[in-house]
Amino acid sequence: MTEQLWAPWRLEYIKSADDDPGCVFCRALEGDDEETLVVHRGAHAFVLLNKFPYSSGHLMVAPVRHVGEYGELEDDEVLELHRLAQAGMGALAQLYAPQGYNLGWNLGRIAGAGVLDHVHLQVVPRWAGDTNFMPVLADVKVLPEHLLDTQRRLVEAWPSA
Ligand SMILES: [Zn+2]
Repeated sequence: MTEQLWAPWRLEYIKSADDDPGCVFCRALEGDDEETLVVHRGAHAFVLLNKFPYSSGHLMVAPVRHVGEYGELEDDEVLELHRLAQAGMGALAQLYAPQGYNLGWNLGRIAGAGVLDHVHLQVVPRWAGDTNFMPVLADVKVLPEHLLDTQRRLVEAWPSA
């Protein structure tokens, strides 16, 4: 069950990590929000959509600083990372009413991390029946419009601080 849950995006991540040079999170920070699917920027952390979502609204929260060790995160980074996960769940609840969430840190390749040197927290909304593998493939196929639409809606629904 656990393997089924975490495996799909691990595979997609490894594929995508090979395609583009540099750090996907640092590139997202420097790029255009729509292009890079960033939905919120904080002082120490930011939120973006996973381009290879396990489910609709699958978010990632990462520190602004390029850091690969969870233990090296500063207190204000740890706090904001989790505050932004809370806010993200607030926006997701408003838009998509998930029935549950998985929050997870994949630290190290063996634990499923595709990007090793910039830690990030996965926020995966869950609905009954979403563990089937086919919806995952379908989600990947309908990627551009679907994700851009989700990005816009999340930006609009983001709770004010
Ligand atoms: Zn980075």
